[in-house]
Amino acid sequence: MQLNVETLALINGGQALVLALMLWYGAHDGCRYALNGLRLRAAAMVAEACGDFVLAVDVHVSPLVVLLLGNGLNLLAQVLTVIALRMVLQRPLLWRTSLAVGVVGWLGVAWLSVIHPSYPERVLWGSTILLCTNGLNIAALWGGCGKRETRAQCVLMWAYVLAIALLVWRNVSLWALATPLQSITAPSPINSFYVLLYGVQPLLASVGFLLLYNEILQRELFDLARIDPLTGVNNRLGLLEASETLLARARARHESIGVLLIDADHFKSINDRFGHDDGDRVLLELVTNIRRMLRAGDMVGRVGGEEFLVLSPAVQRADLLALAERIRTAIERTAFSIEGQSYALTVSIGAALAHGDEADMSGARRRADKALYEAKHAGRNCVRIAAS
Ligand code: GH3
Ligand code: MG
Ligand code: MG
Repeated sequence: MQLNVETLALINGGQALVLALMLWYGAHDGCRYALNGLRLRAAAMVAEACGDFVLAVDVHVSPLVVLLLGNGLNLLAQVLTVIALRMVLQRPLLWRTSLAVGVVGWLGVAWLSVIHPSYPERVLWGSTILLCTNGLNIAALWGGCGKRETRAQCVLMWAYVLAIALLVWRNVSLWALATPLQSITAPSPINSFYVLLYGVQPLLASVGFLLLYNEILQRELFDLARIDPLTGVNNRLGLLEASETLLARARARHESIGVLLIDADHFKSINDRFGHDDGDRVLLELVTNIRRMLRAGDMVGRVGGEEFLVLSPAVQRADLLALAERIRTAIERTAFSIEGQSYALTVSIGAALAHGDEADMSGARRRADKALYEAKHAGRNCVRIAAS
């Protein structure tokens, strides 16, 4: 069956326009940078559609216009897509590199159309440029296949790998022909098959873009549910989930987990004296100081207004006491700055050990709470550890 290239181009153009509308209107507000990326990809689809329509009406237009305008629009779509993808992924945009690839690509097409007209060489040149833009997209998505939570990146990466395979097949087929073809509209199964598959690729990639956007929104929602917006550390839910994972590991390795409950002393007086906003800034500085004292595997979360919980896996009683003392001293020595004045703040810490044979962390948490109460009663700015 011989498929007419112009008809296929018309169908591809219509499909690209529909995809542009889906990308533009299909995504809800939520994650601004990713949404802007999706909208830029929609703009790329409009450029692609225009390029397809130029090819579809080639019998009514001068061949040179078809070549220069059609390829120009196609290259513009490629360049915009490279930038759009990086916007969605929040990577450096590389807009200068992408633009340079597009401009050099178009100049090469112009050279091989006007000065040294040759269809196979023009296809080879165009394919090399597309290889560069697809390569940039693959580089941005590389690594997504390794993790479960970035599966959409992997799907999109394969759409670009397939596009490269199509380009290689097209060139090999064209160069293997005994009688070279003169243009993309010349009746040939190679041209028809290429235009058909070349129209499918934007569909795959656009679905990939939407999956990617969905993945990013899901990740944001996941973080929003688990991260305290003021301090950026885990909230209660984040801590609960992390503690379950830590406890399972401790059980398997017959280890203990250190639990520290850290409460700022007389914090109310800071709010009373300087106001709630400055109080918030002090809380943020407090968390930064606590984090500085932790090892790589330790974690901190906010369990109350000015109360923080540290989980420190694989520790003994002495290590835990030393860690608590390090945190207490670091806070005591920090000059917290409020309205240009330096302010001293101290913390009281209750410590306890959770053992692998405990069903959950609630027992250790209660023991740490009791130890904290004792620390407050002992005059504050001190550490107390629960008896094992
Ligand atoms: P103590 O030494 O007994 O712990 O005294 P305290 O004043 O720190 O304890 P208390 O529990 O009486 O007060 C805690 C204060 O922490 C009350 C509240 O004003 C403040 N607070 C709680 N959450 C926040 C917050 O998100 N931002 C700010 N700025 N203050 C908070
Ligand atoms: Mg307090
Ligand atoms: Mg408190």
